[in-house]
Amino acid sequence: MKNEVTGLILAGGRGTRMGRVDKGLQPFHGSTLAAHVLQRLAPQVASVAISANRNLASYEAMGVPVWPDQLSGFEGPLAGLQTALRNCTTELLLTAPCDSPFLPADLAGRLHAALREQDADLAVAVTAEADESGDSYQRVHPVFSLMKASVLPQLSAYLDTGARRMDGWYKSVRVAEVLFSDAGAFRNINTLGDLKDMEALAARGRGPAAAGYTPDAMPVEQAQAIIRSLVQQMPPAPLAERVGLRSALDRVLAADIISPIDVPAHDNSAMDGYAFRGAELQPGAATTFKVVATAYAGRPAAVPAGPGECVRIMTGAVMPAGLDTVLPQELAAAAGDGSVTVAAGSIAPGANRRFRGEDLAAGAPALRKGKRISPADLGLIASLGIAEVAVQSRLRVAYFSTGDELRSVGEPLDAGSIYDSNRYTLFGMLRRLGCEAIDMGSVKDDPDTLRATLRMACERADVVLTTGGVSAGAADYIRQIMAELGDVAFWKMEMRPGRPMAFGRIASNGRSALLFGLPGNPVAAMVAFYFFARGALLQLMGADAARQALPVMRARSAAAIRKKPGRTEYQRGILSVNGNGEQEVRITGAQGSGILRSMSEANCMVVLAASQGDAAPGDLVDVVLFDGLA
Ligand code: AMP
Ligand code: MG
Repeated sequence: MKNEVTGLILAGGRGTRMGRVDKGLQPFHGSTLAAHVLQRLAPQVASVAISANRNLASYEAMGVPVWPDQLSGFEGPLAGLQTALRNCTTELLLTAPCDSPFLPADLAGRLHAALREQDADLAVAVTAEADESGDSYQRVHPVFSLMKASVLPQLSAYLDTGARRMDGWYKSVRVAEVLFSDAGAFRNINTLGDLKDMEALAARGRGPAAAGYTPDAMPVEQAQAIIRSLVQQMPPAPLAERVGLRSALDRVLAADIISPIDVPAHDNSAMDGYAFRGAELQPGAATTFKVVATAYAGRPAAVPAGPGECVRIMTGAVMPAGLDTVLPQELAAAAGDGSVTVAAGSIAPGANRRFRGEDLAAGAPALRKGKRISPADLGLIASLGIAEVAVQSRLRVAYFSTGDELRSVGEPLDAGSIYDSNRYTLFGMLRRLGCEAIDMGSVKDDPDTLRATLRMACERADVVLTTGGVSAGAADYIRQIMAELGDVAFWKMEMRPGRPMAFGRIASNGRSALLFGLPGNPVAAMVAFYFFARGALLQLMGADAARQALPVMRARSAAAIRKKPGRTEYQRGILSVNGNGEQEVRITGAQGSGILRSMSEANCMVVLAASQGDAAPGDLVDVVLFDGLA
């Protein structure tokens, strides 16, 4: 069998997702990606050739024939395949992409057996994968295929129609699907980030094929770290605008606020009472002062107080010159003759005097850039007499949901359809964060519409959020289109709910945007928003780091919580005070990722770390509250 097969490494792509670098030549684990593929392919076939369109000499240096596309213009794998079928002298051709360094050692053998048994023209690898709800589906890997060289006419006819999709042209030939059990062997490296991560693991002595890292089992913390670091590399939102004080609530301060004045502007009294010189108090004896004037807040005493004299004073009134101590009214023994007696030891000299500038000194920063302005901040700014502040422009976030089944509110609900709720939860969450929320509607699972909407969103906004279609289900094209438009990683998160997620940057017409492809299930979409997108949005809004951490508290679990180790779980909970006056949390009934009611009834999320298993009644668990004092 081996003698009948030529192996073809597909390395002719433009490398768009890697910033147009030549993917096959990227250094990997001591050599290059293509060299790894060659190493795994060579023992399975009679000879190997490489389909490449750039850096031909570097590929030739690997000691195998290099075939540039005869079709010009980086037309994709089918163009490489066409050239290879024309050049191929064996009866069969086996293809593998240059970015799959872990391809199975029995790829040729198993595809070949199926080709013969099923009398097919082409055999292709498939793997079984689980979707978010745990249902399994078969994922086809069209670039791992073995075909008869005689399919060339069908391929050329397909290409003549202008179509370029690998799985599209399969419709014109007889295809045998071969199920491989190790999905990890088909893992490909799409981005420079993936490559770096794989390299880092290799450098730590864990082979890239080891289970440790894989986008198919991405730990929550690792994804959060990757997101943080990518966002950190992005330029911060440079735009600022000046707004009236009230409009600044919840916005992010774009510059430090420096106090132009001392607050308070004068020494003043902290109490209603009598002001005098502390030095005049008789040690160990009562002291009597004559009341010579009254000082009100906003109305200073009319006459100065000399030795032996005091001033009746109200809270906030300016301390009369020379006086430094205020005896609270309730401690004062006022006689009818206009004098006041201070009992021995009843007050310390200097008491109850507020100093000029003790709240804020002129020239000192009152609030730092990056602070999200709270009600207290509004008051503080007002106390400085400042009426307008510079805030960061609102971050523009465009969002849309995907799915043929979705109907918008107001439309009739036909059989099999559901109302789109994600656009409303997203609107709410984005508004709460202070973003400009740009609703791009719900989009059918149709490649052209999806591509057009994604591009439009990218051109209009700083960040694009989508829901649905990232789980690699059959009708979901969005993964493919996202990958076309930029550098996007597709992760299967080790979490529940919310397993599939896409993250990266996309570009269109010279504009780029950060992209989060959130899962479609309503609860999963919210959880992914809160635990992945929220921090990134705050970072891009220019908010200070302290605002980005979600405040976590510990509470006792009222009942046992079932939890599988190996994934982070976000269960919806209700936090309340139990009979002993302690905070106690109870999980809301059904936790299905589609059950939005669980989110609505809850007032918090119980976060159970990947490492932990079931929680017993009374165990302390981490809780993130939905609402709190702003
Ligand atoms: P998907 O990720 O596209 O496979 O969707 C997963 C599940 O979430 C499916 O049951 C969808 O019908 C549901 N879903 C997706 N998007 C929405 C949405 N915008 N509103 C409500 N449910 C949705
Ligand atoms: Mg869908």
